Amino acid sequence: MTFSSLGLREPLARAVADLGYEAPTPVQRETIPAVLRGRDVLSCAGTGSGKTAAFLLPILQALSAHPGRVPRQVRALVLVPTRELATQISEAIGRYGRYLTKPLKSCLAVGGVSANPQMMALRGGADLVVATPGRALDLAKQNALRLSSVETLVLDEADQLLSPGFADELTRLLALLPARRQNLLFSATFPPAVRTLAAQLLHEPTRVRV
Ligand code: AMP
Repeated sequence: MTFSSLGLREPLARAVADLGYEAPTPVQRETIPAVLRGRDVLSCAGTGSGKTAAFLLPILQALSAHPGRVPRQVRALVLVPTRELATQISEAIGRYGRYLTKPLKSCLAVGGVSANPQMMALRGGADLVVATPGRALDLAKQNALRLSSVETLVLDEADQLLSPGFADELTRLLALLPARRQNLLFSATFPPAVRTLAAQLLHEPTRVRV
């Protein structure tokens, strides 16, 4: 099994080969083709499973293959519970996307640091935004982050995203997204709150359990 056989094009396959990935992990094998087909995905995958590449690679391919109607509108929103995780994902976007002919721009929108540089960065537009829910909501309210063109939503570590401090902000943020979109939900555990969210959010999801 190779990354190309999952439907990924050469620039992405070359980037992962450069990183020493010899073969897709089980979660990547199941997730990548489903995301490329436009399906919603519900995945029971924790850290170390390769879940980051499982959602980023097909998203990067879709964004680079089909240009948006307006350049640099936010088309993919990745929500995570911590700034550290957001930073890791944004670094991974740089590594996986390095050979794409049309470079994609990603921005961070995370709490715990000043919002101003994030607002400045968003002003130039972005294809992808990696965010924590509270900061994303703040920036959206101030019109610095426009969510009306989001095509794909990723909830990474959904169990953490639904912890008491976050759940409210998450709900308010989700209400700002277009109704028609692709949803990818990753969670290491499935307590009732995550099951409820999955049932509300996902449309006939491909279930990935590894
Ligand atoms: P994650 O589960 O997304 O946090 O990824 C865990 C680690 O596995 C990261 O350091 C990735 O760079 C690495 N990784 C992801 N996919 C593969 C793969 N197919 N082969 C080898 N390493 C991988």
